[in-house]
Amino acid sequence: MNPLRQRIVLLGPPASGKGTQADRLSSTFGIPHVSTGALLRTECARGTLLGREADAWTCKGLLVPDELAVRIVAAWMKENGPRFLFDGFPRTVTQAEHLDKALRDLEAPLDLVILLELPDEEIRRRILERISCLACGATFSASLHGHAAGDPCPRCGAALVRRNDDTAEAIEERLRVYRESTLPVVGYYQKTAPSIFHRIDAGEGSDAIFAKLSELLEDNKDEG
Ligand SMILES: [Zn+2]
Repeated sequence: MNPLRQRIVLLGPPASGKGTQADRLSSTFGIPHVSTGALLRTECARGTLLGREADAWTCKGLLVPDELAVRIVAAWMKENGPRFLFDGFPRTVTQAEHLDKALRDLEAPLDLVILLELPDEEIRRRILERISCLACGATFSASLHGHAAGDPCPRCGAALVRRNDDTAEAIEERLRVYRESTLPVVGYYQKTAPSIFHRIDAGEGSDAIFAKLSELLEDNKDEG
């Protein structure tokens, strides 16, 4: 399928399922799913200069600075062109401003900004019962999928674990970071690009959310 919208920013709190949705959209519509986390891991694995710089931050458990995140994304766009589904980027207003500028230079403005919304209570509940596969990155809900820590991952067979940053304190910290840095990004897009800004309730089932997202990607109502 060849959607009209191919420069998309997906925003949402932790556990809103945006990574999963981005993966599905990416394989359905053939738009590269770009998460800054994955880009960082690639740069680190390749041992590039950018990667080593980023590693200095991530191994301390810190988010990379805006300027470095922007450089990593710019390097990716230079190699792959301006077609993307960004997940976890831009994380701050500064990053959003830099992205706008980079896209203006390419004469390729954003097509869609989508916010997946989820109440704090639901975020806490989802994270606390989440178990993950560190080998392939899959995550499962203990109550929904019936897996427990120690079980083999249904995708790759490695042992599932409860991530040690999925504690109540760590969750509050992630929620605080989300409110302080990402919510202003939401405000930024509401103000600068209201016609392409959309909200979706992430409390619905994964298939219902995917259907709504697909509709937004395919929608050509307002293109002359
Ligand atoms: Zn796995």
